[in-house]
Amino acid sequence: MVRYRGISKSFGDLHVLDKIDLDIAPGEKVAVIGPSGSGKTTLGRMLVTLEKPTAGTIEVNGDQLWHKNVNGSLMPADAKHLYKVRGHVGMVFQQFNLFPHMTILRNVMEAPVQVLGVPKKEAKEQAIAMLEKVGLGQKLDNYPRQLSGGQQQRVAIARALVMRPKVIVFDEVTSALDPEMVGEVLTVLKEIAAEGNTTMLLITHEMAFAREVADRVIFMDGKIIEQGPPEQLFENPQNPRTISFLSRFR
Ligand code: ATP
Repeated sequence: MVRYRGISKSFGDLHVLDKIDLDIAPGEKVAVIGPSGSGKTTLGRMLVTLEKPTAGTIEVNGDQLWHKNVNGSLMPADAKHLYKVRGHVGMVFQQFNLFPHMTILRNVMEAPVQVLGVPKKEAKEQAIAMLEKVGLGQKLDNYPRQLSGGQQQRVAIARALVMRPKVIVFDEVTSALDPEMVGEVLTVLKEIAAEGNTTMLLITHEMAFAREVADRVIFMDGKIIEQGPPEQLFENPQNPRTISFLSRFR
């Protein structure tokens, strides 16, 4: 489903990612943990083509995100191809990025109508069903500013899901929330994960959540230091850097 090969990324002199190889199977839930600045967000942003690798390739569902030109430089795939590939992936950010001038319902309907060409009536039905799923069926006509942070993040999750992407990157989706709102968002994510079919890359600082939801946990710091099933990585980490990192959460 997802295949990173030899992915490196530098911002000027700052080397953020070093030759990452990562495969994610269809339906797999992979949690990525690691210190601040370890490149987790950069790894996720590359999957939705918001960031271009310095070297390496990324494939989603058999489609390459980047091509090498005759000089060997990485170029985005051509527009038509990229459009298709982008349809495979979605991302939910720390900041919810909702359209402030649109109701909740329109926020969720907008992309299916504008990007996928779904007829409005059908898009509306799908959006309502998705908003009900995240517990916001009563808020359809509200505007984002009328909602709590946790509710806004649930709208952002519904907006990503309604596009039915094959893979969704959730990037520290609870980090900007007041503590009392973290639980409601994690509950929604757990429910989505439990349905099983969406492939998820979960970048998180919530260790208990990673442990409960993920099939595999990756500890990274510029490169993949250690990975394994949650029980193994949390109960019996092998690498001294993983041990040291996890000790901060005990
Ligand atoms: P956190 O847990 O704090 O969110 P992270 O592991 O997600 O961190 P990234 O956001 O991927 O880390 O950032 C990795 C490094 O790359 C950081 O040092 C960051 O400052 C740097 N960086 C990220 N994006 C850019 C950019 N567009 N330009 C320059 N440096 C960047």
